Amino acid sequence: MQSIDNIYSQLTSPKKIVITMHQKPDADAMGSTLGLYHFLTQFGHETSVISPTNWAAFLSWMPGCKTVLDYERDTEKANAILEEAAWIFCLDFNVLGRTKRMADKLLTVKGDRILIDHHQEPQTEVFAYGMSDTAKSSTAEMVFDFIVGSGHVDKINSDIAQCIYAGVMTDTGSFRFPSTSASVHRMVAELKERGLDHSPVHEALYDNFSENRFRFIGNVLMNRMEVFYEYNTALIAVPAQDLVKYDIKTGDTEGLVNYPLSIEGIKLAAIIIDRGEERKCSFRSKGDFDVNSFARKYFGGGGHFNAAGGQSKEPLETVVEDFKKAMKENRDQLSNYKF
Ligand code: 5GP
Ligand code: MN
Repeated sequence: MQSIDNIYSQLTSPKKIVITMHQKPDADAMGSTLGLYHFLTQFGHETSVISPTNWAAFLSWMPGCKTVLDYERDTEKANAILEEAAWIFCLDFNVLGRTKRMADKLLTVKGDRILIDHHQEPQTEVFAYGMSDTAKSSTAEMVFDFIVGSGHVDKINSDIAQCIYAGVMTDTGSFRFPSTSASVHRMVAELKERGLDHSPVHEALYDNFSENRFRFIGNVLMNRMEVFYEYNTALIAVPAQDLVKYDIKTGDTEGLVNYPLSIEGIKLAAIIIDRGEERKCSFRSKGDFDVNSFARKYFGGGGHFNAAGGQSKEPLETVVEDFKKAMKENRDQLSNYKF
């Protein structure tokens, strides 16, 4: 993988470009992608955004979201666009498997795959160019760096600013995680000067719950959460029937895993959701417990040091047992919690 700086000289010659992201995109995946989209279109490129799957309704306010293709719904059209593209930007993921059914297609396209991502252990051999930095708060911040690095900071308009802000605000837990560097704050200042209206972004993302989603959270915290004080760990296991009962849609379970981390002394929080076709796991930690390694070792996943995910094909009860076993194996790291 060559440095992304090597593409700057070709940025101003119009070409066909695809930008894609990980499956079930979150606000960083969608925000970084659409931020880059609004930047590239200003050079006359024919730019298409493709999501491997559908996405949460609370992302639909983002400028440009209506133009995004859902690969699962529009496979033929998306394949035709992918085949024609000279550049395929891959944002907020670093292993092709994170694009599910799109992964095989991505591997065989003739255009150059270009990585912009902040997760651990990138599959560098499949990318022609890229930037990969685990110290970065968000992929959205890296899109900002890319724009600045290209020498075209003047192209940042309020659409780009809103999309980038949505990504960095959500991936930093509203600017509270350790990844919130001085450069992040400087970037936000620059975005403000270029037309960012930040309050509506918070409202669109966090004050936009359906009543059902709120009652679902109540049910989950009341009935589906177990706390293991000996291990400073809390686990939420959500059976498929709860998703049906509360009419839970894509994105409605996002952020739930963070609730138990607010319990005093909790160092590891996990959620396992029975999504029918698979059991999806999310892990969050505080301090020195590495959930990227934990997710990789036990649940075929990965992510960041303090936020990671994985999945299993086993029934929910088995995955819960697997989790408890893994928790016990990590007793030493979990039980010594220093604030
Ligand atoms: P979440 O728990 O919100 O789904 O994901 C937390 C972080 O881990 C995100 O940065 C996400 O991209 C990453 N992640 C989630 N699931 C997986 C997975 O199955 N494999 C890998 N490699 N990363 C994941
Ligand atoms: Mn991200």
